[in-house]
Amino acid sequence: MFELPALPYPYDALAPVMSDRTMHFHHDKHHAAYVETTNKLLEAKRASPESLEDVIRGAASSGDKKLFNNAAQAWNHAFFWDAMSAKPQSPEGEVAAAIRGAFGDLGALKTKFVEEGVGHFGSGWVWLCAGAQARLQVITTHDGDDPLVRDGLTPLLVCDLWEHAYYLDHQNDRKGFLEAWFDRAPSWTFAERQFAAARSGGRRWRYPPPGPARQASAAQ
Ligand code: FE
Repeated sequence: MFELPALPYPYDALAPVMSDRTMHFHHDKHHAAYVETTNKLLEAKRASPESLEDVIRGAASSGDKKLFNNAAQAWNHAFFWDAMSAKPQSPEGEVAAAIRGAFGDLGALKTKFVEEGVGHFGSGWVWLCAGAQARLQVITTHDGDDPLVRDGLTPLLVCDLWEHAYYLDHQNDRKGFLEAWFDRAPSWTFAERQFAAARSGGRRWRYPPPGPARQASAAQ
């Protein structure tokens, strides 16, 4: 069964973009509920999959909407926490060069990211992804949908567009939230690791991460 991963920083690390209170509700209530429901649905099926990625892809192909939505939301939130940094960062290296190649500069990427997030109707997520030939693109997905079930996309960063992500701190100002989030929250070191994996075909971020036992058996 899957565990709710702990936040990789204190609850107040991203304030004022996302306050301590928002993070407690978001992680301890919303994310926890998605993990709990996923586990209950898997228990009912007597399934014990190794990774949440397997659950998401399996549910997508079998048309199990309830399991897909809950498992994908569990995955998306874990990815979201890990793709943010307690300290402000700027893109460097290969990912910085790819941003220049695809968008012109970081400001143009921010404009695109905020526009796509504001223009997305209802709940969902706005992602920076690497696609074909590792070219960067901004996409949005509805509700719990995520790039795992879209061929050839590797997510580098994501921001949550559900109101529970921003309403306590920004009320209905999704644009203000996204602008503040983009300037403060992304972990560009995380994005760089995902981008390197996209270019080399290497291992992307996984939930849960491969454990020592699993790595040892895979190496044999
Ligand atoms: Fe959320």
